[in-house]
Amino acid sequence: MPVWTLYGLKQGKVSQRWPAVGGDDGQSGVLGFPRFDPAQCQSGCRDCADACLPQAITLKEGGGVNVDYGRCVQCQLCVTACPSGAFTLSSDWAFGVRAREDLVWAQAANSAAGQTLKREIRKVFGRSLHVRHVDAGSCNGCESELQALNNPYYNLHRLGVFFTPSPRFADLLLVTGPVTYAMKGPLLAAYEGMPEPRFVMAAGTCACSGGTNGGGYACGRGLDGLLPVDVWLPGCPPNPAAFIHALLMLLQRLPQRVRGGHLMEDGDGR
Ligand code: SF4
Ligand code: SF4
Repeated sequence: MPVWTLYGLKQGKVSQRWPAVGGDDGQSGVLGFPRFDPAQCQSGCRDCADACLPQAITLKEGGGVNVDYGRCVQCQLCVTACPSGAFTLSSDWAFGVRAREDLVWAQAANSAAGQTLKREIRKVFGRSLHVRHVDAGSCNGCESELQALNNPYYNLHRLGVFFTPSPRFADLLLVTGPVTYAMKGPLLAAYEGMPEPRFVMAAGTCACSGGTNGGGYACGRGLDGLLPVDVWLPGCPPNPAAFIHALLMLLQRLPQRVRGGHLMEDGDGR
């Protein structure tokens, strides 16, 4: 008997039960997006903005900073650059949102309105969603995490979500990468080839805003203004659990966790 067969038999069932019944999501100890506390921000300081390569942190006129998690690549440099602890480490990774504005830090956590879904998606697709993935210039970091979704531990099929090679059979277009000019045409063709109703997920910071490569000589700045996006999932890359959360959030099987850049313990209940 091959050694891997023996190993598999010894391991037994490894698929996790999360998120259906809680338990281990496989991400304990993993760093997420830094938390921002403007009360700790020193006036006149710009250290975090200078450290932030993708310009997720920008200076406000009149003092203070804006934080856009849709541009954040989780490098954690702002945490080390800030002299007063306005940015702190966190394990907040469930950052999938329906409205892009919810990724921009706001004083009031419930300031941004959720995007209205095109129809009752849970009723129609809640038990079977087919996903066409298009790599629009990714570094393959996002693909590496996507691949993990089909391993025995995350076992995405148990949730009724399947990848398909053809846009003709797809309900969701999942896009990674900043959308290079070479991939813009094929990406739009894939979208046009999908039957209605169709949904779009911007997966990874590159697809949300261009990330570290956006606006260069060879690519645009992600899906903003290019396709109607139903779910924005920043992260560089988003981890497999973040992908699962975002997919089930699209299907209205899990609540959105982030509002105005704040992670909320119980989500919005939608
Ligand atoms: S962790 Fe995000 S906000 Fe902080 S410096 Fe890196 S990219 Fe910018
Ligand atoms: S978001 Fe990060 S991991 Fe994903 S394609 Fe862009 S650079 Fe790579």
